[in-house]
Amino acid sequence: QAKKQGKDRYEIFEPAMQAVFQAGLQMEADLRRAVVRHEFELRYQPIVHLKTGEITGLEALVRWQHPERGIIPPLDFIPLAEETGMIVPIGEWVLREACRQAARWNERRDGKPLSVSVNMSAVQLEQADLPEVVASALSNSGLPATSLVIELTESLLVDHRPSTLRQLEQIKSLGVRLAIDDFGTGYSSLAYLRRFPIDIIKIDKSFVDDVGDVPAAAALTLGIIQLGQALHLSTIAEGIEDAEQLSELTDGNCELGQGYYFAEPLNDVDMGELLFPPS
Ligand code: C2E
Ligand code: MG
Ligand code: MG
Ligand code: MG
Repeated sequence: QAKKQGKDRYEIFEPAMQAVFQAGLQMEADLRRAVVRHEFELRYQPIVHLKTGEITGLEALVRWQHPERGIIPPLDFIPLAEETGMIVPIGEWVLREACRQAARWNERRDGKPLSVSVNMSAVQLEQADLPEVVASALSNSGLPATSLVIELTESLLVDHRPSTLRQLEQIKSLGVRLAIDDFGTGYSSLAYLRRFPIDIIKIDKSFVDDVGDVPAAAALTLGIIQLGQALHLSTIAEGIEDAEQLSELTDGNCELGQGYYFAEPLNDVDMGELLFPPS
């Protein structure tokens, strides 16, 4: 009897499902180890003033340097990190490391401030001590608060908890700026632009992709830029890959942009050389 019950239980797991389940557990164990052993690295992608070509800021993008699997991109582990709560220590490391590196680069920039943008998950915003963590990352690194940008996704603002607004206001009161990432891909109304203290709109790559050849995409992109101007927000176009997209965006008075056309995300050494070319 016992044997039969045992067999029935096992039948719940088809071999293929079992493999997926095992891989997930393995990934979770690996991620826990990665947090303890600091297996993460940052890449930096320049944010460029479109009319002058000047680098005004950087976006910090995390990578996982897995000992067997090599570099793992964020979309392959951030969702698991969010589900398990491990995004909290990972995100804190990203924030501190990005501030530390940006402060060092800022010291060499004589007069022209360089901002650094850090992506933040909803789970991080649910931590009551996030404003203290941000303040401590700034004071430990010496980075001026005005040089830090925190990027939030639309979904984070749409599904927000009552405490979210308070948290964001506390972070803003430090002098930190807030950006909406992937703008235009969310399903909500534009109401949160009024409700939340946003400084920067990042126009999603899907609009930028088609800006040169699909009239509807061009109209929507120009509309977002004008919306930004009317609300006194900066606009950053994401994922610029060619000169045609650049000229459309520049003609439309988009202020800033980033994308492979300018540079891919670079490691700290390569980014340092781009910022301070060896003469
Ligand atoms: P995102 O914040 O929208 O970042 C932009 C993504 O587009 C980056 O992918 C960047 O490498 C890529 N990209 C930039 N320019 C181009 C281009 O011209 N063409 C194409 N095809 N792609 C371009 P990445 O680094 O793989 O990051 C993916 C997403 O992972 C980010 O999207 C962000 O949502 C998330 N992420 C990255 N780092 C962090 C982090 O530290 N914390 C959290 N919570 N999320 C992060
Ligand atoms: Mg981003
Ligand atoms: Mg984005
Ligand atoms: Mg995106």
